[in-house]
Amino acid sequence: MKKIIIGNWKMNPTSIKQASKIFSSVSSGLKNKNIEVVVAPPFVYIEKLKKISKKVSIASQDASFIDKGPYTGEVSGEMLREIGVKYAILGHSERRHMGEDNELINKKIKSVLFSGVTPVLCVGEDDRDDNHEYFNFVKSQLLECLKGIKKDSISKVIIAYEPVWAISTTVDRRDATAHDCEEMVIFIRKVISSITSPVLAKKIRILYGGSVNDRDAGEFLTKGGVDGLLVGKASLDPKKFLKIVNICEVSKN
Ligand code: PEP
Repeated sequence: MKKIIIGNWKMNPTSIKQASKIFSSVSSGLKNKNIEVVVAPPFVYIEKLKKISKKVSIASQDASFIDKGPYTGEVSGEMLREIGVKYAILGHSERRHMGEDNELINKKIKSVLFSGVTPVLCVGEDDRDDNHEYFNFVKSQLLECLKGIKKDSISKVIIAYEPVWAISTTVDRRDATAHDCEEMVIFIRKVISSITSPVLAKKIRILYGGSVNDRDAGEFLTKGGVDGLLVGKASLDPKKFLKIVNICEVSKN
């Protein structure tokens, strides 16, 4: 399966002109055939960016828990699929901090899967503790977010492990190591195996995210046991983002 690099632009940039410029630079600099490159822009830029290039796939940064109706401000998976969105990032720590819980994220995953959009479920502990309770924390996130979903559908979900303490916007952030990542990836596969099967758990794609840059991307890709990366800040700089994509092309794990 192709490795995947997703750039999460968050609530940036502030104009459609800048968004188009970044997107065009990424798309015209792409020489890679063996990697799927995805950009997650703010909703309002999606249609315009879709017209600029088809080389870069589009993800949304969120999606509704329901398909249609009187839900002011919501955007459904169905609507996103209709305009060509392939992936939806769900349960990002920034949205969890705004009040989303595992129960709501579970509903969003079900709704998005039903629409034919692939969920990218973000999990990750806020901090690490000496008793390794953070493993249980991530386990609960996985079990609650994937509750009641058929085994085959679970295997379609992409899991992004994003330790919040390593994300660029976290105050007093620390760097995570490839080893921190690798042991959590093994653990996530074990949890997925317990609710699906060892064969399906092997198939599921797991990404790492948390201040990935062009200096450490190779380390995570070769030693972190992941199938790709979720990149925040660095994805707004086309040069840095393309460098990460190129590193991904040559890294073998
Ligand atoms: C993120 O928040 O999804 C993320 C990966 O951000 P950053 O790379 O900026 O830490």
